[in-house]
Amino acid sequence: MTIACDHDLFRRLFAAVNAHGRGEAGWTRPPWTDALRAAEAEVIGVAEAAGLVCAHDPAGNLWMTDPAAPADGLVAAGSHLDTVPAGGAFDGAQGVVSALVAVLALRAAGVPGAERLAVISFADEEGSRFDTPCFGSRTLVGTFGDEVADSRDADGISIREAGPPRPVDAAGLHQRLAAYYEIHVEQGLALEPADVSLGIATRLSARGRWEWSVSGEANHAGTTPMAGRRDALVCAAAFVLAVQAEAEAHPGAVGTVGRIGVEPGGTNVVPSRAFGTLDCRALDNATRDAVVEALRAGFPDVAVEHRSTDDAAVFDEGLRAGLFAAATARGVSAMDLASYAGHDAGTLALAGVPSVMVFTRSPNGISHNPAEHSDEAVCLDAVDVLADAMAERLARP
Ligand SMILES: [Zn+2]
Repeated sequence: MTIACDHDLFRRLFAAVNAHGRGEAGWTRPPWTDALRAAEAEVIGVAEAAGLVCAHDPAGNLWMTDPAAPADGLVAAGSHLDTVPAGGAFDGAQGVVSALVAVLALRAAGVPGAERLAVISFADEEGSRFDTPCFGSRTLVGTFGDEVADSRDADGISIREAGPPRPVDAAGLHQRLAAYYEIHVEQGLALEPADVSLGIATRLSARGRWEWSVSGEANHAGTTPMAGRRDALVCAAAFVLAVQAEAEAHPGAVGTVGRIGVEPGGTNVVPSRAFGTLDCRALDNATRDAVVEALRAGFPDVAVEHRSTDDAAVFDEGLRAGLFAAATARGVSAMDLASYAGHDAGTLALAGVPSVMVFTRSPNGISHNPAEHSDEAVCLDAVDVLADAMAERLARP
């Protein structure tokens, strides 16, 4: 079944959303700000004109559903409208606009069960304002409890003050979903070299963050002989190189030291302490953990402390097969793709909601940057494939 989507609506609504939060350096739409609300209003205007009911849940997620939507069994698509500071036009907005265009096309086509269709714009996906990534979806599934609403931004304003007063009341609403689809600009450079338009996501990687530190002994940079020095930074330098080596030695793993510090920090003082961060990701939890264990074993003097982990999220094989079938039927090239970033679809998948993502080819592999891009033809192919796949999914209970 092929569904005719309104490509011009995609163009108009994508442009309308991205008229908000646009600045010299890129797009900035933090959650619960005027820019974000204005972008939401563009989407709500189109959705309501087409007869959908638009409402925010207690966590601030925007649900667009049929007036006769059932309590559960919803076949939904969506993404988010917030951005990182000075981000791109695509990350998030593309997914919300694509979802709405696909759902409106399915409704216009009169597919049976259309009242089960839904579009969701998740709140605060990027987490850059309050350090609360995937706030909306994590609150739905219960990963975030009520205390997270006390997280404060750089101005000391809490989520509770800026946004919803009791987000925890949204907990459990993910159980309304029988399926969740998310279209997203590719973050990386796999599709362009393969000359393929769409990446049908297999999974989101296992991720984790650690902080590490190593102690030495401060001493005079001139009078302390090289032999016998206890230079904390020299040990840390070896550790950083080992992060690279261990990640390379474990297929599918990536490791990054993104922040580093030295004490006391004098030009003529041997460092007494060095510290930093470790971000490690891999296709599965065991590989991620093996990299960190290898580092700990190789550097007993470096204290490596766990900060946070996200387990690998595996996407639904049935939904993936439906997307591949729809792409094949339309002559759109598609391939398996794993993602190493966090997304609401991953949160939902980990909570048992059958979920899937479709990544659209990025010619430069850049994301979280105003240069982020997918060609319009590829974006439109993704919308068409999404609509067809949702029609096929809707035909099943
Ligand atoms: Zn995103």
